[in-house]
Amino acid sequence: MHDVVIVGGGPAGFTAALYTARAKLNTLLIEKAFYGGQMATTNEMENYPGFEEPIGGSELASRMANQARRFGAQIIQDEVKSLTLDKSEKVVETSNGLHHAKTIILCMGATPKELGLEQERKLRGSGVSYCATCDGAFFKGRDVAVIGGGDTAAEDALYLSRFCNKVVLIHRRDALRAVKTLQDAVFSNPKIEIIWDSAVEDIKGEMSVEGLLIKNLKTGQTSEIPVNGVFVAIGIEPRTELVKDIVGLNDYGYIVADEKMETSVPGVYTAGDIREKPLRQVITAASDGAIAAYSAEKYISEHNL
Ligand code: NAP
Repeated sequence: MHDVVIVGGGPAGFTAALYTARAKLNTLLIEKAFYGGQMATTNEMENYPGFEEPIGGSELASRMANQARRFGAQIIQDEVKSLTLDKSEKVVETSNGLHHAKTIILCMGATPKELGLEQERKLRGSGVSYCATCDGAFFKGRDVAVIGGGDTAAEDALYLSRFCNKVVLIHRRDALRAVKTLQDAVFSNPKIEIIWDSAVEDIKGEMSVEGLLIKNLKTGQTSEIPVNGVFVAIGIEPRTELVKDIVGLNDYGYIVADEKMETSVPGVYTAGDIREKPLRQVITAASDGAIAAYSAEKYISEHNL
């Protein structure tokens, strides 16, 4: 019986593991793929405190894993198939067997939606980004594009306009979905140009983004625009498949938790991008992880488990 099983090895999960292991709780972290989650797809991070020089996302992930291991956390690669969380003893079924736990911390993260272009995968981290607040600063003085028409796309375009030379907002329809206040701000911003009714057909560039091939969906006409970066803001999907019928979610599918990171199920906590929150960053994921760990520890002691 583990004190804590943590599902997901991104910054939220590793921080939770560090804190629970350091609190001498028997800790198991299960990650199905590579360490770091979305963080591992970021080449350089320059907004995580403590690193004067930028650090690679994968490197930070493996350092976090090693730090948690140093305090005794067990970290395994396995796929969680199902979770049974309604009893005081929680059961985690993986491809290789069953694990039992007193508490669970859900840190499965979220996945940004992709355009589905081959070049998008190839140039991810080399000009293709899904997070303007994470990567925008790399494009100071450059020309960039934002794809999408929702609140995120509008906010990203406004954020990038503060330091980029020019921002081209490309939307597939002739009206934005974003709230009116954001729309007004976008329309009145001289640095933002909007290209309506258009889809990105291809991303140009070998080693980094050099431009976009776009198609007007009404006329069928294609054109190429030169940009150094492209921010895809067409929505993100929380990875809640395993728990969607078990813990409370909001209307957009994110796990709802209180400030202790407790979900609607006693003894089940959450942390990171998978939960409803205003800012999805490595630093906020780590913060959530620490709080979730602290809450799990308290739950175990208060219930004499
Ligand atoms: P969203 O509201 O789902 O908008 C996604 C946008 O991307 C839409 O304009 C959509 O076009 C477009 N899109 C979707 N799939 C596409 C594709 N394959 N190719 C091209 N375009 C595509 O996503 P979001 O902007 O990330 O917002 C998610 C939720 O978070 C929303 O509820 C939003 O209100 C909320 N949010 C709130 C704030 C805030 O309150 N400050 C900030 C950010 C996000 P269509 O319009 O044609 O569907």
